[in-house]
Amino acid sequence: MIKNYLRKKYLFLVLLAILISSLTIGCNLFAPNSNKNTQIDSNKMLVHYIDVGQGDSILIQVNNKNLLIDAGPNSDKKKLLNYLSALNLETLDYVIATHPHEDHIGNMDNVINDYNVLAFYSPKVQSTTKAFEKMVESLKSKNLKINVIKKGTDSIDLGENTKVTVFSPNKDYYEDLNNYSPVIKIEYGKTSFLFTGDAQKDVEKEILATNEDISADVLKVGHHGSSTSTTNDFLKKVNPSLGVISVGQDNTYNHPNDGTIKRLNDNKVTIYRTDKDGTVILSSDGSKITKK
Ligand SMILES: [Zn+2]
Repeated sequence: MIKNYLRKKYLFLVLLAILISSLTIGCNLFAPNSNKNTQIDSNKMLVHYIDVGQGDSILIQVNNKNLLIDAGPNSDKKKLLNYLSALNLETLDYVIATHPHEDHIGNMDNVINDYNVLAFYSPKVQSTTKAFEKMVESLKSKNLKINVIKKGTDSIDLGENTKVTVFSPNKDYYEDLNNYSPVIKIEYGKTSFLFTGDAQKDVEKEILATNEDISADVLKVGHHGSSTSTTNDFLKKVNPSLGVISVGQDNTYNHPNDGTIKRLNDNKVTIYRTDKDGTVILSSDGSKITKK
């Protein structure tokens, strides 16, 4: 009698276990993607230098947060939007438009329309171009304000183990729009990445004069590797081991400049280029950086 009871109980438990596991599998199969993004490994920071042709667009993913710096030119709209949609993102916690040139904000309107942008940043400068107007229209339609980014901005919080430092712009007016590009250092654990937009020599000089710690393992080479940026003094101070150049194949500007490449080589910087390598994804575990 007791034996029989135990057998029945055992059978019941087995059936219950099968039922629970099938329900769980069913849930996994059919549950909508409730994650706000696809950050899989919570102990890593990923930096995607997205191949958007001749322009910039960089996505940083860390601690389940997404930060997008620039949105590339409209000519390569599909490249950017397809790349982002393949990542299944819904929310961009932070979006930064470095400066109002088309190769950086060409698809900003689409990004703002398509994603749940929590905070938008750009330097305090305007433009009358169509790309800029469309960006502002989209911001208005989403009730997003523009947070001014400048030296000392400390409201970008990427969570545990990270630090975001903004070194520029530190003047109210620059003759060249490129120079409004914020120079930003993002640290994750012991590793560090410097983002420069299209900032040129004048800005590099200004930052060097402040003697702040701009050292970084990875340098986003300024202004698509143009001769206008990446002076030897700046490069020496950043002292990166990796340099990423965001640049289009056979571009009419002859970017990157031979002299810039030489300076990078002379300083023993390993160079990745989006025109040759496609999208460059660097992964940091807080102590070392690897290319995916
Ligand atoms: Zn540019």
